[in-house]
Amino acid sequence: MKYRNLGVTGLRVSEISFGTIPILSGNVPVLPDYFSPDEETAIGIMEHAFKLGCNLFDTAIVPEYGDAEIKLGRFAAKIGREKIIISDKSRFFHGDQMYNAVLESCENLGTYADIYFVHQVDEGNEDITFGKYGAVDALNELKAEGKIKFTGIASHYYDILLRGAKDKRIDVLQGSGNLLERGMLDRMEREPLFRHKGFILNKVYAAGILPSFFPVKTLLSGVLSYPISSALIGLGTNEQVDEAMGIEPGSMACSEAERNDQPQNYHRPAFSEVIELLEKSFMPIPCDRCQRCRCIYGTEIHIIFRQYNYYFLGKDYWALRKLDLGINESAAYCKKCTDMSCMSKCPHAINIPETVQRIKQLVEIHVRNSII
Ligand code: SF4
Ligand code: SF4
Repeated sequence: MKYRNLGVTGLRVSEISFGTIPILSGNVPVLPDYFSPDEETAIGIMEHAFKLGCNLFDTAIVPEYGDAEIKLGRFAAKIGREKIIISDKSRFFHGDQMYNAVLESCENLGTYADIYFVHQVDEGNEDITFGKYGAVDALNELKAEGKIKFTGIASHYYDILLRGAKDKRIDVLQGSGNLLERGMLDRMEREPLFRHKGFILNKVYAAGILPSFFPVKTLLSGVLSYPISSALIGLGTNEQVDEAMGIEPGSMACSEAERNDQPQNYHRPAFSEVIELLEKSFMPIPCDRCQRCRCIYGTEIHIIFRQYNYYFLGKDYWALRKLDLGINESAAYCKKCTDMSCMSKCPHAINIPETVQRIKQLVEIHVRNSII
């Protein structure tokens, strides 16, 4: 296992970190395929990862991630609290709610959290989160009181992560990306403001679907070629831990010919190579989710393009259900739109309105078929 600096926190974190969703028990609609191990088994899996060098374990407040926080706290007590770094989070955006949530998390953990994130910050809650006595202020108060060591925000949105990168009150960022959905990573790599913050990357396997198409080694090596601190992988069995962490660092290094200025000499396949490989199974939309496009009517273009690709990558029911919620409205807007400024910044020259109609047709056919 190799280690990287977590921004300027002074912490050194393992390049591969442990996401605790798969070791939770409870009625939690976070992911459909968690393993629900009992406490002893869950602790055994975390211990296995620890022995392979993992020192960063990420969780969320009960019941958001079921009982994962409690299991992680028991594991920390068993292994020795100071030997691992705990990152925790909750979805509270007002300061007083966040303050109480952190106290509750610490009680569940039976210890402090090294990093505490405001979870799922988006356009609807960012001004409360960053505003006067919002969640960020509360985390700073808790940091000053010694109840947590570092503050963070977690978001799937580039503009919000950039806002976090500019904010002196925030130490660590958590965002999402993988070899297919790498647009945010590409933008971050070019933006020096991110260099001062720790960055934990989630969704490296894209909700578990990419390992059916790419070797885990390729997925990890690809994201570790970006200037992130750690790749967070949800792990629910010892075999999954071995797959993610048992890889010798040398085996992920690229050949001399492949080397450029990528950190640690890890290899990043070109986006076109990723799309070409997927084209063997379906016609993917070549959207890397860079989030440069803006719809004047508020359609979240990168999200509906993701649902389309995920539909063919194995999340068909989930993707269809989500698309069915708003695709007709989005397609109607596109039909009458004369603005079309959404396309001006797309690095892959995607014909966005045309693609939206294509997605609408897919949903119509499949919803109709499911009724028949
Ligand atoms: S073409 Fe469609 S997605 Fe683009 S701005 Fe117009 S309505 Fe929005
Ligand atoms: S459609 Fe183009 S601009 Fe929009 S997120 Fe995808 S790649 Fe980026």
